[in-house]
Amino acid sequence: MSVIIAIDGPSGSGKSSTSRLVARRLGARYVDTGAMYRAITWWMLREGIDPDDTAAVAARCAEPIIDLRDDPADPHISVDGHDVSVDIRGPGVGAAVSRISAVPQVRSRLVAIQRDLVEAARQRGDGVVMEGRDIGTVVLPDADLKVFLTADAGARAERRAREQVGDDHVDRDMIRATEEHLLSRDAIDSTRAVSPLQAADDAIRIDGTHLTLDEVADAILAAVPDQRA
Ligand code: C5P
Repeated sequence: MSVIIAIDGPSGSGKSSTSRLVARRLGARYVDTGAMYRAITWWMLREGIDPDDTAAVAARCAEPIIDLRDDPADPHISVDGHDVSVDIRGPGVGAAVSRISAVPQVRSRLVAIQRDLVEAARQRGDGVVMEGRDIGTVVLPDADLKVFLTADAGARAERRAREQVGDDHVDRDMIRATEEHLLSRDAIDSTRAVSPLQAADDAIRIDGTHLTLDEVADAILAAVPDQRA
């Protein structure tokens, strides 16, 4: 099955869990493009580059070697051979990633890597589920299926806060702080000049606020075009 699926949506909409599950069910590869933007951000911060110094970010963004393992059962990302899968989820990267992602040179470099991953999978006869913000609109405009996954900001914040600190430690203040952070990231992602977060015209829209992970995955799988299934 070599179906290509693009899944876009705002932070905390459940894209990653859903995309991994869909990829596993299809036996397809899984590409988390957010992890790539986070990895390049991690590297910029480590190099001491100011995320607001657009010229420096643009000048240096070709340097780090980004390597993504696209196995949905065990996805990993490394920078210059160093596994950063855990480090890229920290608050420092989270606070800077939207500013780094708005730099056109960063985007064109990562989009090229993303398209190469799809091409390599296609040549092996593998399908791909790729998730991000601009997959259906920019990276893979010819995807077989495009999904735009949303959820209420409150639901997204609660999910993200639980992921970060665990169910036992989450409280209302933390959810409120997480919601503010998500909304500010969404605002930057949605209003940037290059490849803003938006649904492709031909995307199916799914509101996951009141759906389980399995229900969202089922809705996506039901929409996979028959001729490829
Ligand atoms: O998906 P995740 O929340 O990990 O993405 C982190 C950030 O990476 C987003 O807030 C956005 O700024 C950026 N991103 C992007 N384009 C993508 C995927 C992620 O700009 N395709």
